[in-house]
Amino acid sequence: MAQLKDDLLTDLFIDGKAVAAADGARFDVLDPATGEVITTVADSGIADAMTAVGAAETAAQSWAATAPRERAEILRRAFELMTARAEDFAELIARENGKALPDARGEVAYAAEFFRWYSEEAVRITGSVGTAPSGANTIMVVRQPVGICVLVTPWNFPAAMATRKIAPALAAGCTVILKPASDTPLTALAMGALLDEAGVPPGVVNVLPGRRSGAIVSAMLHDPRVRKLSFTGSTEVGRLLLRESADQVLNTSMELGGNAPFVVFADADLDAALDGAMVAKMRNAGEACTAANRIYVQAPIAEEFSRRLAERMGALVLGPGTEEATQVGPLVNQDALDKVSSLVSEAIDAGARALLGGAAPDRAGFYYEPTVLVDVAADSPILREEIFGPVAPIVTFEDEDEAVRLANSTEYGLVSYVYTGDLARGLRVSERLESGMVGLNRGLVSDPAAPFGGVKQSGIGREGGHEGVLDYTESKYIAVSW
Ligand code: NAP
Repeated sequence: MAQLKDDLLTDLFIDGKAVAAADGARFDVLDPATGEVITTVADSGIADAMTAVGAAETAAQSWAATAPRERAEILRRAFELMTARAEDFAELIARENGKALPDARGEVAYAAEFFRWYSEEAVRITGSVGTAPSGANTIMVVRQPVGICVLVTPWNFPAAMATRKIAPALAAGCTVILKPASDTPLTALAMGALLDEAGVPPGVVNVLPGRRSGAIVSAMLHDPRVRKLSFTGSTEVGRLLLRESADQVLNTSMELGGNAPFVVFADADLDAALDGAMVAKMRNAGEACTAANRIYVQAPIAEEFSRRLAERMGALVLGPGTEEATQVGPLVNQDALDKVSSLVSEAIDAGARALLGGAAPDRAGFYYEPTVLVDVAADSPILREEIFGPVAPIVTFEDEDEAVRLANSTEYGLVSYVYTGDLARGLRVSERLESGMVGLNRGLVSDPAAPFGGVKQSGIGREGGHEGVLDYTESKYIAVSW
């Protein structure tokens, strides 16, 4: 495998080989810490997408027929290789995504765990056998691979969002085409090479970076050889791809946007709630679908909580993700910076006060200062939209019903966080919250062994856990008489 740091992989990865785009196109990958070009990468077009689908089709039958134990051993090797090269992967992620090295290291460990978890699940995909109620026959249900999968991933976790899809797909016996975000194609290409080295046969995993996302994904979704789309990204693009998937009635898994409420009751352990808020808000500089987007604090403790959160966030070191001392890196690109800046300005214009930050520092790169806002107007766009930056808007509430009402007042439903010292209240509120996941006295829920996913407009399907592998299978019912 090429060195990750010094010899970047920048061509498409199709049928086990690095190839240029058919039309020779390339695009720039920028360093978010400076805005300068790191390198150029081959830009897939429709012809390349069709070649990749062809490679995935040629490989499909024999991969599906490969013994589950053998597929498991390959995934296990991928886990070991990624773990051995964790530092190289972390530096690559920090470089192209901008996140701080501690976040990048955390992502690599999380990403590698999907290979390990699904190496264990590959040999545990079972069906069922039962007698029909009439007694006339046997009902046999087997699980079969869904077929060729198109995987589309975002830039905010360039390694983990890819392994969270590739690992269960391979465990189930599917072949895949990965279309990574064009801000972060280098990690995905390094992953393709790693899987090749781990023993994944040519054509089973293909990686198609490209700026012409709409055209190449649409072409693949309309190719009758493709049977599934697994998408992680914004709700806006997810809706569009669901419509496109309808044309061929594709099996779809959608991991979409979030607008997580972080609810702190006055009886909570305040130190623990602050620790949780720091993780839920500041992991990845707030560029996470699980980021605490709206912080609701019960009135008696709101002032102390806000002041102490501002102290904690204000002490973080802002800088290039690749520097060891950095705790908050730059945002991914200029658009992200503009969006965060305008959400904060709108909130301040509508009466919010910045206890901390509230502006972009005067330096090159896409930096935004850690920011804490109080007195945020209830109808402020910053409470309705994903901030995707290091900004914590704090709103106070009086009682449990109001907290639940405010938390649920969004079309999103990915994750919610609740802090309380009263376990009965914690479980009661967890049940009432409209989200696919709840962190109860915890600011981090992501775990490869747990089903990750949203309700409402945050998505369809689950990734991780046993559910994650079932999403890459179809159940076939065989009615048997003998
Ligand atoms: P995005 O703009 O929706 O892009 C996601 C992926 O879709 C990228 O690969 C992108 O390619 C591609 N894409 C964009 N427009 C497309 C189109 N018209 N047709 C086909 N593909 C298209 O999202 P993002 O900005 O990369 O990521 C941030 C979003 O992801 C946030 O909303 C976040 O909440 C969500 N997210 C959700 C989860 C979850 O598990 N629920 C996890 C992480 C992130 P290009 O890069 O080339 O545009």
